[in-house]
Amino acid sequence: MLRFFAPLLVLTCLAIPALAAEPLSVFVSVPPQATFVTRVGGDHVEVSALIRPGTNPHTFEPTPRQVAALAAADLFVRIGMPFEDALMHRLRDLNPTMVIADARDGLPLRRLEPHGHDEHDEHEHEHEHEHAGDHDHGHDANALDPHVWTSPPLVIEMAGAIRDQLTRLDPGHAADYAANHDAFVAELRALDEAIRADLASAPGRRFMVYHPAWGYFAETYDLVQIPIEFEGKTPGPRTLASLIDQARAAGIRVILVEPQFSPKAAEQVARAIDGRVESIDPLAADYIANLRSVARTIAGAARP
Ligand code: ZN
Repeated sequence: MLRFFAPLLVLTCLAIPALAAEPLSVFVSVPPQATFVTRVGGDHVEVSALIRPGTNPHTFEPTPRQVAALAAADLFVRIGMPFEDALMHRLRDLNPTMVIADARDGLPLRRLEPHGHDEHDEHEHEHEHEHAGDHDHGHDANALDPHVWTSPPLVIEMAGAIRDQLTRLDPGHAADYAANHDAFVAELRALDEAIRADLASAPGRRFMVYHPAWGYFAETYDLVQIPIEFEGKTPGPRTLASLIDQARAAGIRVILVEPQFSPKAAEQVARAIDGRVESIDPLAADYIANLRSVARTIAGAARP
């Protein structure tokens, strides 16, 4: 009898994991986070980023279809984009069992820097705000910088948190999550080394960029980010003039832009200094290759 049943038992044991292999449904805010969760979760997760690579994450609102899909999700990992607060309130009613985690937990957060704007601009900005209507959408001056993912050492921390969250939700695959995490972290360490090598030969440490998405990257690699955008807005003429002076004084020739934002102001600065505009993408899903290319571009653009 026993001998007769043994093959059946084996079949049954093989069949159970296959049947139970429904992947965890995970939502995140920005595409690089989706890459991080996929790297750690492998086949055991199905990940969606609410924000698409080409859209401005600071003014984004989720579509009704996305909100409906979130009702069936197991985990949402937020990161500090403005739309999240309103969404969290709705989600608590829509999906009370979903785990909500914050990618920033445990990370040393920075404030968005006040930058090269002189005091005369105070009035200029007040004036702009009067006409702007909804200035809640941009970065507010005291807000914490949400772009934590632009620093590979911080992504190493985030990967550890993702491993722990997935393991808590799905302890049966703990070994896979641990192995995937270790492989991903090894790649992130190699990326970190490669970026340090790229930047070692840079002619300077200061770079000018439209949207201040690179503050954590700059902090990690001892660079200075000079943003053109101010509180989520295109700067006025006086600020632009002062940025042009700064760029000239530093010998900057390349002004960096991001594909999510209008390059108009950056192009104005570039024209005035007889330089050019180059694009770097903070939201590319191909995180490792993209950050390597960003580092090379910044190394070429940075000046003393
Ligand atoms: Zn941003």
